[in-house]
Amino acid sequence: MLEGGGRAVTNLPAHHNPRGGFRNPWTGGAQQGFRAFLKWRLERMRTALPSDPDPAELPSTAPAFDRPRAAHTRLTITWVGHSTFLLQIGGLNLLTDPVWSERASPVPWAGPKRWMAPGISFNQLPAIDAVVLSHDHYDHLDDATVCRLEARDPGARWFVPIGLGNWLRARGIHEITELDWWGEAALDSLMIRCAPAQHFSGRWPWGRDRTLWCSWSMSSASHRLYFGGDSGYHPEFARIAERCGPFDVALMPIGAYEPRWFMRPVHMAPEEAVRAAVDLGGPRLVPMHWGTFKFTDEPMDEPPQRARAAWLAAGQPEERFCQLRFGETLVI
Ligand code: ZN
Ligand code: ZN
Repeated sequence: MLEGGGRAVTNLPAHHNPRGGFRNPWTGGAQQGFRAFLKWRLERMRTALPSDPDPAELPSTAPAFDRPRAAHTRLTITWVGHSTFLLQIGGLNLLTDPVWSERASPVPWAGPKRWMAPGISFNQLPAIDAVVLSHDHYDHLDDATVCRLEARDPGARWFVPIGLGNWLRARGIHEITELDWWGEAALDSLMIRCAPAQHFSGRWPWGRDRTLWCSWSMSSASHRLYFGGDSGYHPEFARIAERCGPFDVALMPIGAYEPRWFMRPVHMAPEEAVRAAVDLGGPRLVPMHWGTFKFTDEPMDEPPQRARAAWLAAGQPEERFCQLRFGETLVI
């Protein structure tokens, strides 16, 4: 393409839109438009959705992570809810997509309300060394939580896909590592790599896809973990494993998938999340992005049931399907 001054820009990666912003660079990655969104919401008003269980039926438990930090050779994974985890890897304490607010929304008085309380209360958190963000949607990037974390752990380093640095700097955060897909950075002995995802971005109906979305891998001397971010099924999972694996464990989004005709480009169904985990080389699968906020049409407790069935149908060992209760700590 030609920039304003007529200079040719060469080697622009395929996921960089020549008109600015970002895109999913493979077939099947085009998202539905606003008309389709309205069609979904209208259909939803006309049809009765399957009912949800009582939130009290979803299991939760007291967390059992190591204080103040875990040994360098130990990996602990504690599910706070949705895509928020406390990870102890390489002797460090990390958070993924931290959300402790009551709603995943631009305003505190409306929008999708939290269905399950955070599995670790904010004040119970250990000192945080780093935060990893997958993209800017409200259920992954929460203004109030970001500000609370910055006040509490001002030394934490924030790993974000390109375009999110300004948003954080506007909130007084300066320890930022902004990476493009396949970029990498070290934090002590931990190697953190930014990898593709199939999704979109934007916190308002306008100005879509101006900032990047991604998944992440984290490698310590003893463990390799994959954090899938928010994603539709795409053809890059095997390559991610080649370049960043082999993985001991993959935290994979399995919820927010109905109706498929609308959600398929941006959210995997449980069967697709299992297929993606198989593409990744079959690490342990920890389901995420379910049971916490109601955005879509499937019942709140359906995603892990379907994921488990698909996992077994794919011939994967049952003990490697690691469905966590809210607050549960998995040690690997
Ligand atoms: Zn999202
Ligand atoms: Zn999401």
